Amino acid sequence: MSYGTTGGPRYCERCGGTFFPKYDYAKLCYPCWRRRQDAEGLLDIAEMEISRLKEIAAEAERRAAMARGQAEGIPADMLKVMLLLCHPDKHGNSQASNRVTTWLLQQRGKSA
Ligand SMILES: [Zn+2]
Repeated sequence: MSYGTTGGPRYCERCGGTFFPKYDYAKLCYPCWRRRQDAEGLLDIAEMEISRLKEIAAEAERRAAMARGQAEGIPADMLKVMLLLCHPDKHGNSQASNRVTTWLLQQRGKSA
């Protein structure tokens, strides 16, 4: 319901009140247009806040996953392979291989 002419009275699509459009394409009275602009501004702010919070949540999830990984220790099958790879027999009974093997054996109890 519109009178269709710029300058002539027109019905606001939102509140139904009459207004004199400043532009031919105007479908809302000024107060309704203002409210929509404000709402869009708030929507922009809300969307930015949502993406900010999503980033925080993703970071928290990443940290939680890391913490879980640390708490779970070295997976048992990986530990077995690592023990094989650094076994002192294969490294001339070196101090380093003994040290690493001892440490790996200590990790055994920590893994789930
Ligand atoms: Zn209106």
